[in-house]
Amino acid sequence: MKHFPIFLAVEGRRIVLSGGGDAAMAKLRLLMKTEAHLTVIAEDVAEDIRKWEAQGKLRVINRRVAPGDALCAALFYAANEDDAEDARVAAIAHAEGALVNIVDNLADSQFITPAIVDRDPVTIAIGTEGAAPVLARAIKADLEERLPASLGILARIGKTFRHAVDVLPMGKKRRDFWQAFYFGAGPKAIAEKGEAGVLPALESLLDAAATTAHSAGHVDLVGAGPGDPELLTLKARNAIDKADVVIHDRLVTPEILELARREAIIIDAGKEGFGKAMAQADIDALIVQHALDGHHVVRLKAGDPTVFGRLDEEIAAIEAHDIAYSIIPGITAASAAVANIGQSLTKRGRNSAVRLITGHDTRGYADHDWRALAQKGEVAAIYMGKKSARFIQGRLLMHGADPATPVTIIENVSRANQRIIATTLAEMEPTMTQANLTGPAITFYGLAPRDAAAQATNIREFA
Ligand code: SAH
Repeated sequence: MKHFPIFLAVEGRRIVLSGGGDAAMAKLRLLMKTEAHLTVIAEDVAEDIRKWEAQGKLRVINRRVAPGDALCAALFYAANEDDAEDARVAAIAHAEGALVNIVDNLADSQFITPAIVDRDPVTIAIGTEGAAPVLARAIKADLEERLPASLGILARIGKTFRHAVDVLPMGKKRRDFWQAFYFGAGPKAIAEKGEAGVLPALESLLDAAATTAHSAGHVDLVGAGPGDPELLTLKARNAIDKADVVIHDRLVTPEILELARREAIIIDAGKEGFGKAMAQADIDALIVQHALDGHHVVRLKAGDPTVFGRLDEEIAAIEAHDIAYSIIPGITAASAAVANIGQSLTKRGRNSAVRLITGHDTRGYADHDWRALAQKGEVAAIYMGKKSARFIQGRLLMHGADPATPVTIIENVSRANQRIIATTLAEMEPTMTQANLTGPAITFYGLAPRDAAAQATNIREFA
């Protein structure tokens, strides 16, 4: 982002514009929407500008800009449609401390004017940093069509009512109130009774909301997928959008947390394997406490919450307090990883079952049915399998697994720094250690990347 969008306070401030032709008029049409004092300085000014002056909308000074003209100005526009003159007046304004825009000259401007959708006090600014004005215009046209003209009136009246709504508990309850106003009761009142109907509508809506029982909040146990925000389900996306509180795992990526509302409370409940972290009981207590406060809590877990997610412990805590909850599935690391090596988790004639196993559990290295896994054609996705790699390798070999069985390690699945390491059971260690994995990694036992598998088949065929 080369330009940072802000809303500048211009009420009662000076805005000076140099130029009196078409470019000047285009800017003035926008500037006249503000409550700033506008001064137009030009030797010749168009008829319309004269009219606006007569209506008291701006002041005209009939001469070229001279030093001193931009003193105390918040903004200065050079709109002479003449490069040399624009450069001259811009230098003056710049020296006098105004922010300068030269019309149609992005490189020499300190700020640019966005395309604006005006539903004052709701203002939408659209900018493309000069890259695609056509796109900005199309987005503007689309929004103009979609946002009812009454939106501004609703927002203005709504603003005067904000303090009255303090009687409602913060968070979901208040948001539901405003949602019902802006998208239901408000537009309806305007349509039926005009502007005068809006305040009574707000009052009866508030009465109704205040008399309904204090809500106990809600918990969504949400799968965040492997890291790429595009692998979120729509349900997950919507839940994150609405959350008052997001309690997330260490593996949930910043790009996904970025989607939460600015006001949302974000809590990192990250857990390190074998290491120190927030105890599960503390996480359970946090979820319950925020839900009892009436908040919409999103418990955001990497991948799918039902896979090695300690979901049931959290559900037990939530149910013990009679709190409503829902489970929103996500794409588990195994699903995303297998897609990225071009394989299937199950395949006709190869494996009709796949196991999701963990390298360690709360007691240390996890034990599995090694004898069954050692059979030809078995496939397993090993979660949390970095530290336990040598243990798993040893157990499988001891139970007769073929040392040439393919093993694929995928680190940082779906993220920009994803790595795929193809090896065999015999080489699983030291390959794993040598790879120096720093991100989360999943290991496929019994699967090679499609390309490598094709190569291996070719070698066999030609041997
Ligand atoms: N619920 C998660 C798994 C939690 S256990 C899921 O469904 O994916 C944590 C383990 O998941 C990690 O040790 C790693 O083995 C795996 N994992 C999670 N996200 C991963 C990612 N982006 N890349 C590779 N492995 C990942």
